[in-house]
Amino acid sequence: MPDQQTYSFPDKRGYFGQFGGKYVPEILIPALEELEKSYLKARDDKAFQVNYRKILQKYVGRETPLTFASRLTKHYGKAKIFLKREDLCHTGAHKINNAIGQVLLAREMGKTRIIAETGAGQHGVATATVCAKFGMECVIYMGAEDMRRQKLNVDRMGLLGADVRQVDSGSKTLKDATNEAIRDWVTNVENTFYIIGSAVGPHPYPMMARDFQRIIGDETRSQLWTAEKKSPDYLLACLGGGSNAIGLFYPFLNEPDIRMIGVEAGGLGKESDKTAATLSKGTHGVLHGSKSFLLQTEGGQIRLPYSISAGLDYPGIGPEHAHLFDSKRVEYVAVNDKEAMEAVKLTSKLEGIIPAIETAHAIAWLDQLMPTTEKDEIVVINCSGRGDKDMATISEYLRENP
Ligand SMILES: *Cc1c(COP(=O)(O)O)cnc(C)c1O
Repeated sequence: MPDQQTYSFPDKRGYFGQFGGKYVPEILIPALEELEKSYLKARDDKAFQVNYRKILQKYVGRETPLTFASRLTKHYGKAKIFLKREDLCHTGAHKINNAIGQVLLAREMGKTRIIAETGAGQHGVATATVCAKFGMECVIYMGAEDMRRQKLNVDRMGLLGADVRQVDSGSKTLKDATNEAIRDWVTNVENTFYIIGSAVGPHPYPMMARDFQRIIGDETRSQLWTAEKKSPDYLLACLGGGSNAIGLFYPFLNEPDIRMIGVEAGGLGKESDKTAATLSKGTHGVLHGSKSFLLQTEGGQIRLPYSISAGLDYPGIGPEHAHLFDSKRVEYVAVNDKEAMEAVKLTSKLEGIIPAIETAHAIAWLDQLMPTTEKDEIVVINCSGRGDKDMATISEYLRENP
């Protein structure tokens, strides 16, 4: 196998190039410093890592398969396509890898209360799940509008024992729930651990989420080596905050021949106002504690993102992706609602896998990519989640677009 990478971001101050950092109220700086110290200790602690891996194996169901998508491959008639099956993780997506890591760290730090914010509800469900498993008190902040749109996930969190708190300020969506979670953390920082669900937030969160998700890329490397005796030529993943993408990309970043493509949600088109394509359309700014790209007005107000996929509907992007975009190591593109929904149909019919609408954005890019590939090349797509949670949206789309 080729050597593991030596890429070494973030720096000591928590920056990926010019992005990242800790833009939080003064009162939270000691909490972030304590968190960083505890995390670095856990990262080098053999017992912590062995326990983390064991729970991923016995509870989450890792390792997840790397599936050869034979009929999708035949459909395009070019490079071989493989799917990394994060949809087969317990709770149906990759988010649980990070939630398990952070809850174990919370326990290590002696915290007894967990808070989180959620938009579509997927991170809330993953957090409520690990809190049930480890006997932690769990409070989830969620915008009133999101609670209405994602009722099933609200009920799931309740059943798992979480206290779901409705947020009625602002647009009543994710960014308002995040503000509320930060307010709670400031007040209860003594006994409370804030679990952030993507590779976003102040340092050390983007680094922690990446490290807890890199198992996706590490497994892919060894599984592909076993199956094909080579490294991938292309890696594809969808981007909300960027955790499933960085989890797949990170272990390969030092191999310049591997092309990596992050796919954002274009919504109704990145030229329109109804989009979540942060890197294509955003500008530099600070959101949720770090410097990155974000969708904002000229006056610096956050612009409400839009995508048919609730999990990609986020106005920011993790700072490491901002850096990888700036340094051109990773290519970033956007796929619209309609193209993603066609990819849901295609993957269901050809592979017997109903992907999450988020995931389908990455799959949809095959239309652009595949004609440029060669038969002896390999494409790996991160299948970040399953589509069961999206069936209401999918059914409505199918009624209108049979
Ligand atoms: C939340 C979610 C995403 C987007 O989050 P990232 O942090 O960008 O990975 C993608 N796919 C699924 C299935 C999700 O639940």
